Amino acid sequence: MQDLKSALKRFFGHDVFRPLQEQIIAEVLNNRDLLVIMPTGGGKSLCYQLPALLKPGLTLVVSPLISLMQDQVNALKDRGIGATFLNSSLNSQEIQSRSREILQGNIKLLYVAPERLLSEGFSVFLTQIQQDVGISALAIDEAHCVSEWGQDFRPEYRQIKGLRQRYPQVPMVALTATATTRVRQDIIQQLGLIKPGVYVDSFNRPNLYYEVVSKDKRDYPQLLKYIKLQQGSGIVYCLSRRRVEEVASRLQADGISSLPYHGGMDDTVRSVYQNRFIGDDVRVMVATIAFGMGINKPDVRFVFHYDLPRNLESYYQEVGRAGRDGERAICVLFFSRGDIRTIDYLIKQKSDPSAQRLARQGLSSMVDYAESTVCRRKIQLSYFGERFSGSCQNCDNCLNPKPQEDWTIEAQKFLSCVARCQERFGMNHIIDVLRGSRKEKIERYGHHLLSTYGIGKDISSEAWKRLGRSLLDQGLVNATNDDYAILKLNKLSWEILRNSRRVSVAVATPKAEKQQTKDIESEFLWLQLRQLRQKLADRLGIPPYSIISDSTLKVLSQRQPTTKAQLGQISGLNQSKIAQYGDLFLEEIKAFLASTHLPEQLPSPTQIATLELHQQGLSVKAIARERNLTTSTIYRHLAELISLNRPVNLDSLVLPSKQAAIKAALLKWGATNLTPVKAYLGEDYTYSEIQLVRAWLQKKS
Ligand code: ADP
Ligand code: ZN
Repeated sequence: MQDLKSALKRFFGHDVFRPLQEQIIAEVLNNRDLLVIMPTGGGKSLCYQLPALLKPGLTLVVSPLISLMQDQVNALKDRGIGATFLNSSLNSQEIQSRSREILQGNIKLLYVAPERLLSEGFSVFLTQIQQDVGISALAIDEAHCVSEWGQDFRPEYRQIKGLRQRYPQVPMVALTATATTRVRQDIIQQLGLIKPGVYVDSFNRPNLYYEVVSKDKRDYPQLLKYIKLQQGSGIVYCLSRRRVEEVASRLQADGISSLPYHGGMDDTVRSVYQNRFIGDDVRVMVATIAFGMGINKPDVRFVFHYDLPRNLESYYQEVGRAGRDGERAICVLFFSRGDIRTIDYLIKQKSDPSAQRLARQGLSSMVDYAESTVCRRKIQLSYFGERFSGSCQNCDNCLNPKPQEDWTIEAQKFLSCVARCQERFGMNHIIDVLRGSRKEKIERYGHHLLSTYGIGKDISSEAWKRLGRSLLDQGLVNATNDDYAILKLNKLSWEILRNSRRVSVAVATPKAEKQQTKDIESEFLWLQLRQLRQKLADRLGIPPYSIISDSTLKVLSQRQPTTKAQLGQISGLNQSKIAQYGDLFLEEIKAFLASTHLPEQLPSPTQIATLELHQQGLSVKAIARERNLTTSTIYRHLAELISLNRPVNLDSLVLPSKQAAIKAALLKWGATNLTPVKAYLGEDYTYSEIQLVRAWLQKKS
């Protein structure tokens, strides 16, 4: 074992093995068949590369992607290891010279594309290799390609079984990052592995933070906001090529360096774009799922899904491209139920019924994930048959448990409306009735005469939908399994109607938070609370929104609670949140309330001198000249004067249209550090203008 470690150091420069690597390598050296399942980036390659170097002969590696092959071979060559590949990108001369090298015994690792295995020439060549230098192992990379149940089925992979039978003494190592239990069994069977050792590494990626954000119809601004909040580079996944193009160009227009990447693009352009991303020349790749398979960029700091992925497994793989360096990375899924319809439409286009069913299952795994209120990590891992207990404290559901609210009365209204509509309508119609809609359809059915007509006006249709979905999810009402999704009452529905069952709903935006118009005072408090949150976040190294959500922050600034008991009444704050952060936020609120009653502070003589000239209508430049000071000093005086509530004419200093934009930017980015505010606003705005508006926003009125 000591030998293995020193070989690891000698050939690869690593000091220690990753979990399972050492055992796996020992098994390969003992010529045992193996199935190795490790998450992407886990270090699978080493499991066959090191044995290849320690055993006599050549290790044949079957790998499906030409680009990946090239990278691996280059990396090995850099380490002075004899490695080469044979695939369709080479001309016959190159193939000949490489073949010669192989038969001379200079090559320890030979990478081949699966389609090459089929050719007769290659079969003859293999026999020759076996004779001249010997085959030490057969490594099958991305082994899930052999399974129809997996993501990327490749019929050529089925040919590999022939190899297994032809060289029964040579160990075969199948490796993959993608494996549900079903796929695992299929790999063993389809490759004909003989009594294989099965090694499954944990799929947990503790450095990835997971979040699901509900996406509105006008969703682009939200995406933009999230991207602006991130540092480093990232990937935005979209469902269609058209969306990719659209989002990439909008991001570019908004000053985010970004490029599109999808299957419809020219190969050379794609690879140029990919390299620009890898080289940090461009920050954001907007891509369909085609992007990422062949790249290994370790410092992808965020992966956003603007559209719903096909299934939880794809999602796991795609977000898995973030944070390969083990540093923190953010994975956000933007989810809207509207996406389900789009994907469902795509599924209907499939001609094969079993493919349809598989796709539907995948979709529902994704929807369950998105709508769940339990730990996201737990759901992902359980999908791979791995148990994760406790809460991970690194996902939105763990850090920000959705408050449960009692919605029994609303549920009763909803269900009785279903009953009164004689269980013949879907959710949208029921909600229309509840909200007293004037749609023609309602009158046609006489539903404007029902006792439930208009009894739910006070609740938005979004909130009603949330309730309806939650009732469905909890099995408290049923829906027909067709396009109409007609609501039907069940036993539990009747228990609710009879008042013998209560209904709790996890709410993203609690009922109590009905939009209020923010006055300037609460806006300023909001700003301060936001800064506090940012400080806490920086200190704890977690994203601000995982401390307290924006909507909760808004409620705090509006209600201005001063005791823990009052805090407890605010949705979005549970006891552990209050215990952790309650005092800090209360202090900030109290300080704010106190500051509004502070005795007035007086301006200094130099500030007064500036003010006098300003009031005479002099421009800042003129005042500066007059007083022999710089313009930035004059601006500073004016900002301080505004803070002290002196009569400065802001409109003469900053155009009103600009004021609005600056105010919005300050609210968005906070007022402590003006660098991001300036960056956001761009060239047309000066720091002085921003400082003046900040002062006006913060003045003690
Ligand atoms: P996979 O094929 O599982 O996606 P790779 O084999 O490409 O992963 O390995 C991912 C990264 O981890 C590579 O950069 C590799 O050099 C590194 N790595 C693998 N094993 C070790 C180890 N024992 N110590 C340090 N780094 C390692
Ligand atoms: Zn969690």
